[in-house]
Amino acid sequence: MNRFKISLLILVFFSQAVYSAPELNGNIVQGGLVWGQTMAGTRITLDGQPVPVHDQGHYVFGFSRDAVPESVLVFTYPDGSTESIKLAVGKRSFDIERVDGLPPKTVTPPPEWTARRKIENGRVRRARSVQTNDLYWTKGFVRPAEGRFSGFYGSQRILNGEPRSPHYGLDIAADIGTPIMAPAGGVVRLAAPDFLLEGGIVIIDHGFGVTSTLFHMNSVDVTEGETVAQGDLIGTVGAKGRASGPHVDWRVNWKSVRLDPLLVIEEGNDP
Ligand SMILES: [Zn+2]
Repeated sequence: MNRFKISLLILVFFSQAVYSAPELNGNIVQGGLVWGQTMAGTRITLDGQPVPVHDQGHYVFGFSRDAVPESVLVFTYPDGSTESIKLAVGKRSFDIERVDGLPPKTVTPPPEWTARRKIENGRVRRARSVQTNDLYWTKGFVRPAEGRFSGFYGSQRILNGEPRSPHYGLDIAADIGTPIMAPAGGVVRLAAPDFLLEGGIVIIDHGFGVTSTLFHMNSVDVTEGETVAQGDLIGTVGAKGRASGPHVDWRVNWKSVRLDPLLVIEEGNDP
């Protein structure tokens, strides 16, 4: 056997060792964010849908509130070999939350709100659909405000006595004017003082489709396009929009998939 063949054999053996057991961090549960790093040039799909991979192999994805019990993650490595992993997605049970005393218009929006809601929803969708190579999400998340957790992700909502769609945020109740900080660094994609249901709203793009959205803000102290660091002041707690009292509603998305903010702070470096 000549020298070239020997080195080729070693390479194949070694590469198999490197490729085995892809890294998966986070929570493989309903509402969970999952991330890892693989070999650069790898392609990944989750249940047949492409998962973006960074030049250095970073990847991230998440599971919705109603994710099915099993998902299939497929890695296609630079040499063309593939690895398929079955993920058992943990099922959770969600509470029922009753919220009373909401401004009636915010529970059943009047027809004259329809046109403006269309514009506002479009701005939210566009802000969350930006795809960048930024890796702010790799640094973990911190809670955006001091205060009491007053509403949870996934709960079935009964608003002013009427059953409504589930709640997708983590509500933190605090006095009006309490500072709100960026849960992670990123680029501000949406900053508006007075959406009909959300009140003051900020959407921060942490990269790779991971975003934070903050609702009901009294003041919004950032502008679209601005870059913020984790912990930077972005505004203050308010009670604007569909709110029965002062709180901030924090949402985390992976693209259009809604995730549980409490899971990302438990997993991250919240002090
Ligand atoms: Zn809320």
